[in-house]
Amino acid sequence: MRMSQLFAPTLKETPKEAEIVSHKLMLRAGYIRKVAAGIYNFLPLGLRVVRKIEQIVREEMDRAGGQEIRMPSVQPAELWKESKRWDFYGPELLRFNDRKGGEFCFGPTHEEVITDLVRGEIRSYRELPLNLYQIQTKFRDELRPRAGLMRGREFIMKDAYSFDTNRKTAKVSYDRMFEAYNKIFTRCGLDFRPVEADTGNIGGSESHEFQVLAKNGEDAIVSCSNCGYTANVEKAALRAPENLNENVIEEEVELKKVATPNKKTIEDITAFLKVDVKKTVKTVLFIVDSKTFAVLIRGDLAINELKVKTFLRAEQIRLATEQEVFAATNAPTGFAGPINLKVPILADLSIKGLTNVVVGANEIDAHFINVSIERDTSVKNYHDFRIAKDGDPCGKCGEKMTFFRGIEVGHIFQLGTKYSVSMNATYLSTKGKEEPIVMGCYGIGITRIMSAAIEQNHDKDGIIWPNAIAPFSIHILPLQMKNKKVVRLSERIYETLLSSNVDVLLDDRNLRAGPKFKDADLIGIPTRITIGARGVKNGTLEVYDRKTQTSQDVPIEQFLEKYETSEVL
Ligand code: ATP
Ligand code: MG
Repeated sequence: MRMSQLFAPTLKETPKEAEIVSHKLMLRAGYIRKVAAGIYNFLPLGLRVVRKIEQIVREEMDRAGGQEIRMPSVQPAELWKESKRWDFYGPELLRFNDRKGGEFCFGPTHEEVITDLVRGEIRSYRELPLNLYQIQTKFRDELRPRAGLMRGREFIMKDAYSFDTNRKTAKVSYDRMFEAYNKIFTRCGLDFRPVEADTGNIGGSESHEFQVLAKNGEDAIVSCSNCGYTANVEKAALRAPENLNENVIEEEVELKKVATPNKKTIEDITAFLKVDVKKTVKTVLFIVDSKTFAVLIRGDLAINELKVKTFLRAEQIRLATEQEVFAATNAPTGFAGPINLKVPILADLSIKGLTNVVVGANEIDAHFINVSIERDTSVKNYHDFRIAKDGDPCGKCGEKMTFFRGIEVGHIFQLGTKYSVSMNATYLSTKGKEEPIVMGCYGIGITRIMSAAIEQNHDKDGIIWPNAIAPFSIHILPLQMKNKKVVRLSERIYETLLSSNVDVLLDDRNLRAGPKFKDADLIGIPTRITIGARGVKNGTLEVYDRKTQTSQDVPIEQFLEKYETSEVL
């Protein structure tokens, strides 16, 4: 490609809308342009990166036994009603009607469509296992689209689905995808970790996310350096906090109700009653699949809603509203407590055995003090409902866990029979019995990989693409366009590389060296060849490495030989 013809409008100023470096650089270097919130045009450079990533994904999926198909983006509501996700998915699902009033949605994921396809075609165990995948545009009406391609509303995903006769072989299919994902992200040049994850809107049992390490990442991950357990904080298993010591557990004294006018928050209460926050217990009310539950946790800690949801095997969880709190406790928010509470109570490990703590009295402007959890409440069992913090003890071995931030580029799930049962996708077993197919599903955010790769690979001047996903591999920069020898040599090298199928970009624009270098740094092609009058005279080219910022003078003929021979071969 000749840069004089390339549609890559670069920007000098950083656009105001851009929050993080990958977004800024993709806009500045002319990879993408915004159309609407979370919806982007891909310009030639951007599309080339997408294609490179897609190709790596395709090769590894094919190698792992996947077969590529293409499903429609527009999906009928009936299928989503069968799986019960039409109501459950919420406003992220973009819904619309056709001219006859039929209900449709734009696919945010394709479990329903593929389960429908497979149930119509697969008859017997002989046709399984099967792994089908596609690379396609998805739409999710995200509440907060942000950071360019990182969290778009329209984005490109690779989604694969596996179909097996039983859980054992389904696990083999899952492990094969796990391996394929490791290969894909390694080939993309990313520094990543597979981590244990929650199953979210998709459902199912076991699940791993592939997280690219980045300080701007949206996800928090905890990792134990002792046993290697690594998980998304949403999921991370914890033990009781270690600081449950004698300062907190004291001899019991008499329970007492005290007036706490307008003291609603933990901060208000600790200041007003002059107690340590660890001597308070929060009672938080949730609506879980339309039932009210109270969750107790020590005042200084936070509840992980997902853990509560998983524990109750529920589909949905949210905080109770002011009215719902009133209905359950007879008091406004801020005064709920476990004594005489009429709704089911769940307790976090952190409150086990606590004595002389403060709790709400289920009465406006009142709290109990000197509460002994075991003596004064009905709580019998304690579970892990806490959000992990840096330094928390690992749920597997008890050692301290550390935090890091990540960008989720892939997510794999063992679905079990969630969709095959609700949508009646069965096969005929060896015993001649109809059995539900056991499924897995596997997503990769193709366009999110672009953002993640830049977050990990850039400097103050621009992008530094990993070679495998760079829009071009080599960038040729003739430094003096008025020098015929320089131009001629540049053309010759360009043509040689082209005919050896190297992705090469030639900066044939009539510009001075300065702006050419600036643009080359910004666009971020890994190898640059600078051709100048001095080199022509000495018979050398300067081969510059964008990442290490080092250059080497290579004799012209030696450089060309490499490509000319590969052409002959
Ligand atoms: P997130 O928690 O980031 O919303 P998710 O768990 O909803 O992700 P999946 O349903 O597992 O995502 O989708 C598979 C992959 O698609 C994700 O691992 C991610 O890389 C990508 N992805 C999901 N949502 C978006 C989005 N809004 N923009 C870009 N990529 C996305
Ligand atoms: Mg999501």
